[in-house]
Amino acid sequence: MHLRPHAMTRHVVIIGAGIVGAVSAIEALRAGLRVTLVEAGPAGGEQAASYGNAGWLSSHSVIAPAEPGLWKKVPGFVLDPLGPLAIRMRYLPQVAPWLMRYLASGWTEARVEKTAHALRALLVDAPALHHDLASAAGVAALIERRGLLHAYPSRSDFEADGLAWRVRHKTGVRWQELQADALHALEPALHPRYQFGVWVGEAGHCRDPGAYVGALVAHACAQGAASICAQATGFRFESGRLRAVRAAGADIGCDAAVIAAGAHSRALAALAGDLLPLETERGYHVIVDAPQMLPERPQLPQLPVMVSDCKAGATPMERGLRIAGQVEIAGLKAAPNWRRAEILRDHLLRIFPGLPAPLPAASLHYWMGHRPSMPDGRPCIGYASASRDVVHAFGHGHIGLASAARTGRLVAQLLSDRTPEIDLAPFDPRRFARPFAP
Ligand SMILES: Cc1cc2nc3c(=O)[nH]c(=O)nc-3n(C[C@H](O)[C@H](O)[C@H](O)COP(=O)(O)OP(=O)(O)OC[C@H]3O[C@@H](n4cnc5c(N)ncnc54)[C@H](O)[C@@H]3O)c2cc1C
Repeated sequence: MHLRPHAMTRHVVIIGAGIVGAVSAIEALRAGLRVTLVEAGPAGGEQAASYGNAGWLSSHSVIAPAEPGLWKKVPGFVLDPLGPLAIRMRYLPQVAPWLMRYLASGWTEARVEKTAHALRALLVDAPALHHDLASAAGVAALIERRGLLHAYPSRSDFEADGLAWRVRHKTGVRWQELQADALHALEPALHPRYQFGVWVGEAGHCRDPGAYVGALVAHACAQGAASICAQATGFRFESGRLRAVRAAGADIGCDAAVIAAGAHSRALAALAGDLLPLETERGYHVIVDAPQMLPERPQLPQLPVMVSDCKAGATPMERGLRIAGQVEIAGLKAAPNWRRAEILRDHLLRIFPGLPAPLPAASLHYWMGHRPSMPDGRPCIGYASASRDVVHAFGHGHIGLASAARTGRLVAQLLSDRTPEIDLAPFDPRRFARPFAP
């Protein structure tokens, strides 16, 4: 067998140990590369979006956030600071160019569909890929493959969501529609006002995304990866080849690097030659600790549920019941607005009437984190302009947990000069170099 000269020994530094960096590390090791992970915080810790997401391995999440006609709602985004999507007034001038691209990307159904096909290729077997990764890391029980539920007050509310389901169907997603009786038989904890449901059987969920990332990184280290706790600040190139990643004032000698720093990837990408419109869509979660231990022993959901009237996902997890959602555009530095998390807490009581009201304060935990979002809802996966030794792997927005499994494989294929297993054109970081049409 002919081995490429560097195939066994190429040393890659992966910047960021969220879900994307963690899976990339495992897949790079599987491809025979030497791996060093550079992470500024704890792997899978609270600083990472990968810690606090809803845990949905939703292989059907192919609809990018912007949809036709969304521009009409922009004044509301700015004027209602507590709406499900809010833009902080002070941040508006800074985010305006990103916002224009965001609206343009969903301007027509054809654009939504194009992105959906691309995302489907990234997501299609996400639950199975994650199950394999979790099994290898000894935490298979964290990945459930029992489907996900979307609940609507009525069939007409589902039909109002018609574009999304129509486009999903075109990409090959299939589901089961549930009338009220079937919906409540499947999920008895749900409020009776939900009279129509959609069960997506192919999807799954993770019962503790932070612990999952921690276990994947521990597995990568057990397989030979090195791990350095430091902030990466730049690169040293010589004649177009990468020689080192700079971190904590020192050079880490290497042959290749992966930028997987989530919402913090923009400055690093610029140093690798690409000025990219990466923005943070801040999101929140609330966990009710082990609600089965509450004195009233409430009836608890068994399946993850997305409810249309609250625009949030509630997921049964190891630690308790988590509800996650909200989109707040306010940049990386602004303080959290915990009122938004309280809204999610109140939604829980509206969705699951068996929970005790008010929920005991001591059982509640609030979190805010940064979705790394490109305006067109598609991540950047590809070589950097400065050198093919640097691979971009960030910008996974609302679907980074689910889509990380295939992203890691693609990263390893790029690092080993193999043909990527799916078409990477829709994820090409250079797509933003072209002017965009509204
Ligand atoms: C409320 C909410 C709900 C969500 N729900 C879902 C869901 O149900 N399903 C789903 O698929 N996705 C969901 N997402 C999105 C998903 O969480 C993210 O897309 C994904 O976690 C991004 O992973 P990442 O590895 O790119 O970034 P992160 O998880 O943010 O990891 C980046 C890591 O890089 C480190 N880092 C940053 N800069 C540096 C540096 N210079 N040097 C070294 N280290 C650095 C950070 O410390 C961090 O650990 C949700 C997100 C939110 C906020």
